[in-house]
Amino acid sequence: MIAREAAAAPYNHATREMQRPAQIAALDDLLQRVHETNAFQRARLRGARVSTVEDLRALPFTIKDELLLDQASSPPYGTNLTFPLEHYTHLHLTSGTVGEQLRVLQTAEDWQATRRCFARVLSEAGITAADRVALPFPFGAYLQFWAAAAGVEDVGALALPLGGLEGRERLRAIAEFEATAIVCTPTYALGLIDVALEHGLEDAFASVRALICQGEPGASIPAARERIESAWGARVFDHAGSTEVGVFSYPCAAGGGLHVNGQEFLCEILDPAGGEEVGPGTQGELVLSALSRIGCPAIRFRSGDVVDVGGACPAGHDDVWLPNGIVGRTDDMVVIRGMNVFPSAIEQTLREAGLLGEYRIRFYTEATERDEIRVLVEATDPAMVRMIEERIFGRLALRVRVVPVMPGVLTAQRLKARRVEDMRRR
Ligand SMILES: [Zn+2]
Repeated sequence: MIAREAAAAPYNHATREMQRPAQIAALDDLLQRVHETNAFQRARLRGARVSTVEDLRALPFTIKDELLLDQASSPPYGTNLTFPLEHYTHLHLTSGTVGEQLRVLQTAEDWQATRRCFARVLSEAGITAADRVALPFPFGAYLQFWAAAAGVEDVGALALPLGGLEGRERLRAIAEFEATAIVCTPTYALGLIDVALEHGLEDAFASVRALICQGEPGASIPAARERIESAWGARVFDHAGSTEVGVFSYPCAAGGGLHVNGQEFLCEILDPAGGEEVGPGTQGELVLSALSRIGCPAIRFRSGDVVDVGGACPAGHDDVWLPNGIVGRTDDMVVIRGMNVFPSAIEQTLREAGLLGEYRIRFYTEATERDEIRVLVEATDPAMVRMIEERIFGRLALRVRVVPVMPGVLTAQRLKARRVEDMRRR
């Protein structure tokens, strides 16, 4: 963990630069600690040290496939281990099909950092020792669930273990124990609303005042968040993390969106194609170095998460602000006439314009060999269609054809059709 004073200056556009020296010093400490004994890092880093941003840029990225290959050739844990196996206390797996699951080990020291990071998420959401936090999931091998339980313990709240129950039983338990907060995905929060309405279990909504969402971008999408907040009568707080690096962000209660936890992570936001750092008002890929993870280091890890780069957060917090949370994945990126296009950015624009119905996004090639984007929307108001076109142009700097269709037409095909179709000629 880096010193708090390092990030204590009031926020301005230079904050990222102001945090950097302390973060780079912490990264240098990490490099020193892992060089000697971590075979994977020794081979990649060749004794590199960092004292400037240029040194940082010279470090190789860590790519998930590289870690998977390493584990395949040195099963079961690979060679990205700083200590002998007996030093480790926690094992987690990434989600994915068997064989592609990355195994990530943490020492007791690493786990303390994970706890701190989740406790930070909860604290920023206003959770204290007075709260009762429902954990409605079986833990499995996934870090986020174990981290949530550890974070609840860290802030001194009461954890309500609701794994192994179905929706109705969970709602009854939430009502009986008067849970004040729930940790879950946005989809699950929406699903519980339907179960409650169907079975007359709306009592469960009464005591809950915060939903701490994770795992999906929905909590930062205004339409999904508003539906959850109005039904539950509670506030939704988003956060994001990954097994490979840990819980790297916390919610901004005042300004919305997320902050990268600059005490524990050095974050770069890079153009996924060129690798250059991008500035406010653009999108880029989060590249994270976990400063407190020693046992199984993640140094310049390419997260694949795409974010809008924020300027100053309205509340004046120091850490890097992601106003719309995680907006997509680089795997979904499509290059149209030299511009990086994320379908999730188009979706978000549609929702911001007030579109409630279904939509389809189609990438295709015209007879002139030019790649184009067409968006079908269930809307009848020509003013909304024009507004959507203008907003997409504002966001992507590309003209997109927005075609209105009768409400219900796309909804009827929803189960069969994908929302995003790439029909370009290669
Ligand atoms: Zn903030």
